[in-house]
Amino acid sequence: MQNTVKDAILRGRKKVENVVEGGRRKVESVVEGGLDTVETVVGAGLNTVETVVVKGRKTVESAVSRGRKTVEKRFLHGRSTMQAAVLHGRQDVRIEAVPVPRAAAGELIVQVGAALTCGTDLKVFRRGYHARMIVPPALFGHEMAGTVVEAGAGVTNFRPGDHVVALNSAPCGACYFCQRDQENLCDNLLFNNGAYAEYIRVPARIVAKNTLRIPEGVPLEHAALTEPLACAVHGFEDSNPRAGDTIAIIGGGPLGLMILHVASLAGYKTISLVRHPGQVEAARQLGATHVVQTSMIRKAIDDTRALTPDNRGVDIAIEAVGVPEAWQEAVELVRKGGTVNFFGGCAANTHVSLDTNRLHYSDITLRATFHHTPAICRKALDLIASGRFQAGAFITGRAHLYELNRVFEKLMNRSSEIKTAIVP
Ligand SMILES: [Zn+2]
Ligand SMILES: [Zn+2]
Repeated sequence: MQNTVKDAILRGRKKVENVVEGGRRKVESVVEGGLDTVETVVGAGLNTVETVVVKGRKTVESAVSRGRKTVEKRFLHGRSTMQAAVLHGRQDVRIEAVPVPRAAAGELIVQVGAALTCGTDLKVFRRGYHARMIVPPALFGHEMAGTVVEAGAGVTNFRPGDHVVALNSAPCGACYFCQRDQENLCDNLLFNNGAYAEYIRVPARIVAKNTLRIPEGVPLEHAALTEPLACAVHGFEDSNPRAGDTIAIIGGGPLGLMILHVASLAGYKTISLVRHPGQVEAARQLGATHVVQTSMIRKAIDDTRALTPDNRGVDIAIEAVGVPEAWQEAVELVRKGGTVNFFGGCAANTHVSLDTNRLHYSDITLRATFHHTPAICRKALDLIASGRFQAGAFITGRAHLYELNRVFEKLMNRSSEIKTAIVP
C-alpha cells in the first residue's frame, strides 16, 4: 500500500488535512507547499473530483469554480440535480429536480441570478404552450441574467465568474432574412428556455451571437430586462419617429410601459393609454406626457385625440396589448399620414376589420414589429447600463422559484405588478 493522498482517500480517510497532518511521506514529495485543500489534491493529479465528492468532501464547489478538468460529468458545484420549473401544460408548472446541465463544446452554463416574469410566459402558462418557443414538457422562462459557472470547449470570450445576459434566441446568420438585416425574422431562430431554474444551459449559437457581458455595477435583475427592453426599443425604432412627434402607446403592461419610457427618454411627447387605475402612477413615473385611463375604447380614442391640435390625432400609435380591439383602436388614434405599429401579438386565428378608406385616403402606414436582433439587444443593455433607464421601476416584486405558481396566478388577476424577479 502506498502513501499517496489518492490512496489515503481511497482507503476512506475523512479529511485530506488529516492525511497531511498524518505525515504521509509521499505527500510532501508530490505536492509543493501546504497540501490542505481538495483543490490542491485534484490539481496535483492525485485524484479526481468524482472520487472526492463520493467521499463526501465539502470543498468540491471551490474545486469546480477553479475550473478543474477532472470533474466527473454528473457534477457541477458538486451536484447532480437542480431545482427548475417544468411546464407540463395549461397552468401546470411544477418545480422539479432535474439534471444539472453541463456545457458541451461552445456552450455555457450560467447560474441564474434573476429570472423575470414576462407577459409571454404568462400567456404560455395560461395556454400551456407557445407554438414557436416552447412545447411541454419543457423548462420554462426566458428573461434572465446570471454568472457563468462553466464554459464548454472552444468558448474564448466568456469564463467562469463573468456576469452575463444570455438572450432567449439567436438567428442563424445564413437565411434569406438574416442576410437582409431582418434577423428577428430568421427562418431558423433558435430559442432557449429554462430561466426559472438554478442553472441554465446556453446553446453555442446564443453564446456566439447573443450573450452579453454585464458591465460592472449593473444589478443582475436589471440586466435581465435586456430581452423585453430590446423588443421595446425595436418597436419604437421601427415606428420611425421624427423629432417633435407625439407618440401614443396603448397598454400599461410591462412592454407598453417600456416603450413609453424609451420614447420619453428619447425626448418625444407621449400619451400613455392604460385601462387600470393602478397603472397610471407607473406611466407618469416613466415619463408619460399625458395618461389616458379608461377601459372604454371610444372614450380612450376621443380623449387621446383631444390632446392633439385640432383633434388631428397622434403621429404614431403603438399597440402593446395584443388584442384585436386594441389594434383597431390604434388605427383610430393616428393623424393623416401617421404610423401605426401593431406591436402586441394576438392569439392565433384572430382577425381585425379596418376601415379601408381611412387607411388609404389618410395615407396610414401600418407596421408590426416582432422580437429583436442581436444589435438591438446590445443597445438595450447599453441603455440599462447608462443609468438613464429606470430599471428598478419595472421590478415590482421578488419571489423564490418555489413561489412561481403563486406569482403567475397573481399576475393573471391583473394586479398592478409589472415584473417579478424570480430568484432561485
Ligand atoms: Zn419576455
Ligand atoms: Zn436566419
